[in-house]
Amino acid sequence: MRDPDRTVDPSSPMSASAFDSLLESIRSCRQCEGLIPEPRPILRAHPEARLLIVGQAPGQAVHRTGIPWNDPSGKALREWMGIERAHFYDPTRVAILPAGFCYPGRSEHGDLPPRPECARLWKTPLLKSLPAIRLTLLLGRYAHLLYLPETRSQRLTDTVREAARWLPDYLPLPHPSPRNRLWLKRHLWFTEDILPLLRIRLRALWEEGARKCSPSAISQETPLFMPTGDPHP
Ligand code: SF4
Repeated sequence: MRDPDRTVDPSSPMSASAFDSLLESIRSCRQCEGLIPEPRPILRAHPEARLLIVGQAPGQAVHRTGIPWNDPSGKALREWMGIERAHFYDPTRVAILPAGFCYPGRSEHGDLPPRPECARLWKTPLLKSLPAIRLTLLLGRYAHLLYLPETRSQRLTDTVREAARWLPDYLPLPHPSPRNRLWLKRHLWFTEDILPLLRIRLRALWEEGARKCSPSAISQETPLFMPTGDPHP
């Protein structure tokens, strides 16, 4: 069930400088100039990140501050996940890549959908540059569409109800926007069944990451003296 975009060639992992240069290219992307209020790509990533969070696109508050999930939706998401801000915003643990990186503007019905150019241009190179990702949280319909285009159900509610089906790679969830409070009230199984599942998977992910970084793991898996030269061949 792995996204083919995420297939990483272990014989040629991306170097640190190539990764920085990819992020720099995305941050200076102006592909949607004239189509959106102001190109300002907002994302976080690091090759060591084990969790990927995919939302829709920044809202106005996030666009202003440049910090993803720095709004009531982000607060709700951190509560769902049971983690603090410092953990959430540590890019070596959590990569944050919305379906569209720039604020798309508004219509009379609310924020516009994420720009399709974004995934077309950047999804494949980004996923190939994140070899450590073990779980991807898909928040809301646009994230489901982008990552589960053929296997999701037509109704978001049905996709979320069957969330365990996409484990261990993906967990499709509703968007944690306060506007979805009514949905949460109507579907108590989400709080009772899916949120505990989310927390169990996250705990396993953090524990596995901690084991990999523990001194005993380092002494068993990593030579004490690294060979000189490029540490990311
Ligand atoms: S939305 Fe994506 S493709 Fe469009 S300008 Fe922003 S980063 Fe570039």
